[in-house]
Amino acid sequence: MRVFINHCHVYPEGLCQEWWAKEGTIPNLKKCMEKLGIEKAVVFALLKGTPSFTSIDANEWLLKKIQKENNLHPFTTIVPTEKDAAKKLRKYIAKGFVGAKLHPEVQRFQINDPAAEDFYTAAEELRIPLLFHTGVHGWYLKKYRPILLDEVAQNHPNLSIIIEHVGGYAFFYETLAVLQNNKNCYAGIAQTRRKDIPWYLPLERLNILIEMVGAERIIYGADFPWNNCEGIRTDIEAINNLDIPSEKKEKILGGNLARLIKKNG
Ligand SMILES: [Zn+2]
Repeated sequence: MRVFINHCHVYPEGLCQEWWAKEGTIPNLKKCMEKLGIEKAVVFALLKGTPSFTSIDANEWLLKKIQKENNLHPFTTIVPTEKDAAKKLRKYIAKGFVGAKLHPEVQRFQINDPAAEDFYTAAEELRIPLLFHTGVHGWYLKKYRPILLDEVAQNHPNLSIIIEHVGGYAFFYETLAVLQNNKNCYAGIAQTRRKDIPWYLPLERLNILIEMVGAERIIYGADFPWNNCEGIRTDIEAINNLDIPSEKKEKILGGNLARLIKKNG
């Protein structure tokens, strides 16, 4: 099976002493992909505001680093409410990015802020997917609870929205409502086998998603390096062990992601 994983964070080597910066390097990711037979991966660099990375333009750094890496597909990281966010998005997509990762808590924006509208419109026109982190992560919950994505999805019916972590454990059913209400929304099931994090997704909930939303709208993400290579292996195994036809497993493990990214080419 050809596996294409979503959601891999990568950082410059020697950036700082934090474990995630040391682990989450492009060589480490490539090593893991090789070990597990993963064909392709979506990668993105640090988000704005992360200490000790502010002197580097994360998007430019990533672009340069992966120029010769045909199996790494970059998502840009732009704060959608900042001035010229739409213009920046167009610029980076023209340079080779194929989507965008958004993190309302880390980037400090409210999902349905009118200031983000131009950015969402640009993404819709460019036919690129937007990946939103959802799930409890600090800051005011009302600014990033999954129901707010309903408004974005309704206003932009041609925009593909990946709701990463399916709202987290606490907002699962709210996210399910958004998924049922909007065919342009996808369930991102990154790093979900662990119970010690707010986005634990029990297997029974994954089965609910398969039955009620459909395998064609479920996208596996690794959340590398927070999920290490062993964790990614366990995740992939769990999907392969599901009692569903192999075509559905293939869709979850990369087929859907490939389809969303192809739209823009
Ligand atoms: Zn992430």
